[in-house]
Amino acid sequence: AKGRGLNTYALYSPDMNITTREQIVLESSLRKAIENEEFRLFYQPQVDISTGELKGVEALVRWMHPSKGLIPPNDFIPIAEETGFIHQIDTWVLRTACRQNKKWQDQGFPHFRVSVNLSSMEFLDDGLVDVVKEALNESGLDPKYLDLEITETMTMNVDHAIPMLRNLSSLGIQISIDDFGTGYSSLSYLKNFSINRLKIDQSFVRDISKDANGTNIVSVIIAMAHSMNLEVVAEGVEQKEQLRFLQVQKCDEVQGYYFSRPIPAEEFEQSFPELIAK
Ligand code: C2E
Ligand code: CA
Ligand code: CA
Ligand code: CA
Repeated sequence: AKGRGLNTYALYSPDMNITTREQIVLESSLRKAIENEEFRLFYQPQVDISTGELKGVEALVRWMHPSKGLIPPNDFIPIAEETGFIHQIDTWVLRTACRQNKKWQDQGFPHFRVSVNLSSMEFLDDGLVDVVKEALNESGLDPKYLDLEITETMTMNVDHAIPMLRNLSSLGIQISIDDFGTGYSSLSYLKNFSINRLKIDQSFVRDISKDANGTNIVSVIIAMAHSMNLEVVAEGVEQKEQLRFLQVQKCDEVQGYYFSRPIPAEEFEQSFPELIAK
């Protein structure tokens, strides 16, 4: 943890590295970014592995910086979390994703879920349920078409996670565990939670066919998840042979560059027929 002494705030201390200085600059421009609505959502399809049907899209935030261009989330989410701006970003993401999905439905696209990533800070905040409720109400989106992606680490405080997940799923929305396999939870532990699906972390998908261990982990996760009536999405699918393996293992859905990179809503609409014709 950082000290709170005067030195912490000496902005031009000689031993300060570029990264820290850059962070300070980013922090002040994050404030403006929220006011100026500089964030954009990109969408990446989640496809039914056996029918090729589009089952969902994951909404991924980008920052359209006026001079730096498109900034990926890993470069600003950590700073947004440290400074508390994450709450405004995640609220904006939720509202925008719900509104966009309702718009697609009204335009006549087939219905599919939209998945939204939540910061662990959101999950600790009791206001989350109201924020979700409000995003659903104002958009008019049927709750079953909203999915929240949370990580295993967020469920570690069981006393908090169990009622939080129960409250969220009582809204009728869906819950996915993101990056599954990288955290601490075991599948039996997840039995205590109201969740709908697991997303196998892309590090395991990358190891498919490279290494017998990697493929084993993937098969075990799929089999156990199914025994608990959970759906499984594999993320980071880039190659045909990964897709083939996942098909044999009866994975439910796939997501990755093999199908599409995350793309803006307009591009998604234009390429829609090809997206699902893989
Ligand atoms: P994530 O939730 O695990 O998202 C998946 C990341 O993998 C995305 O990176 C996506 O573009 C990338 N990806 C998808 N398919 C492939 C593939 O086939 N190969 C490879 N190499 N990568 C693939 P992105 O968009 O840069 O997001 C990074 C992380 O930032 C996300 O990881 C998520 O943790 C966080 N994030 C994104 N959007 C939001 C948001 O709205 N709110 C919060 N709190 N976090 C977000
Ligand atoms: Ca995710
Ligand atoms: Ca993930
Ligand atoms: Ca991740």
